[in-house]
Amino acid sequence: MSFKELNLIEPLLKAINKEGYENPTPIQSQAIPIVLSSKDLLGCAQTGTGKSAAFILPILQRLTEQRSNQKEVKALILAPTRELAIQINESIAAYGQFLPLKHQVVYGGVNINTQINGLKKGIDVLVATPGRLLDLIGQRVLTLQQVSYFVLDEADRMLDMGFIHDIKKIVALLPSKRQTLFFSATMPPEITKLANSLLKDPERVEVTPVSSTAEKVAQEVYAVDKANKPKLLLHLLQHEVKDHVLIFTRTKHGADRLVKFLAKQNIQAAAIHGNKSQNARQNALQAFKGGALKVLIATDIAARGIDVEELKFVINFDLPNEPETYVHRIGRTGRAGASGKAISFCDLEERPYLQSINNLINQVIPVINSHPFPASDTFVAVPTPKRPLKEKSEKTAVAKSRKKRRFRPANQQTRK
Ligand code: AMP
Repeated sequence: MSFKELNLIEPLLKAINKEGYENPTPIQSQAIPIVLSSKDLLGCAQTGTGKSAAFILPILQRLTEQRSNQKEVKALILAPTRELAIQINESIAAYGQFLPLKHQVVYGGVNINTQINGLKKGIDVLVATPGRLLDLIGQRVLTLQQVSYFVLDEADRMLDMGFIHDIKKIVALLPSKRQTLFFSATMPPEITKLANSLLKDPERVEVTPVSSTAEKVAQEVYAVDKANKPKLLLHLLQHEVKDHVLIFTRTKHGADRLVKFLAKQNIQAAAIHGNKSQNARQNALQAFKGGALKVLIATDIAARGIDVEELKFVINFDLPNEPETYVHRIGRTGRAGASGKAISFCDLEERPYLQSINNLINQVIPVINSHPFPASDTFVAVPTPKRPLKEKSEKTAVAKSRKKRRFRPANQQTRK
């Protein structure tokens, strides 16, 4: 299917072409017709599947068709983090570049007055994090009475981050006659409950379950003693990883420590985590995206929604204790079908985490001992799986990964 066959209007097709997209991703080809036909949508999809365009494109099209001079917000997109909100707004700017629609992003941690001034000019599409949106509504800077399109993005993360009450408050301010699009990577019972309370007779679209995200990224585990992790990282940065690399640490302190360690070795790196100001986080992210900074070190919360085109490497300096987090982390690379590689350091204490990860993704990630800093007890253990595991070598992973900007074929996706 092509974008043209999705009946998108010319200014959107032109923008898509300019972005270099050849064909819609599975979530796009499934969701766009649903949104254009005014139906509510329940999308089970994670970041990296092209889901932002799946809701932005049809909303921009509907707003263009219903162009009105009203200054109030007509489409509201809620995102859990500033980074994701900013990214969605950047996508709106890209896809809407040939349309006269106004859009803005609002999020906390920065001066509210600049945002207020922007809003006063009138806004068609507003992207917001929940807390700042409520602040602005409280200050009577905006109302949601004219919202016809409401998108709740990454609903599961919203709940994880404790936004449920804010969301309920916001929903109570929306007109009941509206179209609602609800996206979540996972659908635990409390998400289903929230979805049921927001959606009317929704169409359901589901793509790329968590376990298959892991299939397009070549993965390796480096067994190493804890004390040797910094030296191993240095070795990799000096000899193997020539490209941009996103490195995950479990703690903010650990991220800062690594930045200092690398600086002493003349490797410039920056950390993004919750203790950094919004400006510092944005600057580091922009430098990384723009190519000036090759090494970015992040904790999980700060890294949510980071979308860096053509990120080829992710290094897990620490393994996360929740296997889903591992999948989210490695999903930063191999985006939109590009090939990527994830290297994880695993010390003695982290081996149970590795077992949970292998179980979740239903693969045995190959363990590499042949490096300059092998673990003192050569680690060969293969975890006991709950389900039969697929043996996975780097070769098969690379063979499976597709060329840049190609997507999983539609027959690997399901629509319910
Ligand atoms: P998302 O899941 O919305 O975060 O999108 C992931 C990445 O895929 C972003 O870098 C988009 O620019 C890119 N993308 C979205 N749709 C397409 C498409 N149809 N073709 C190629 N790349 C795309």
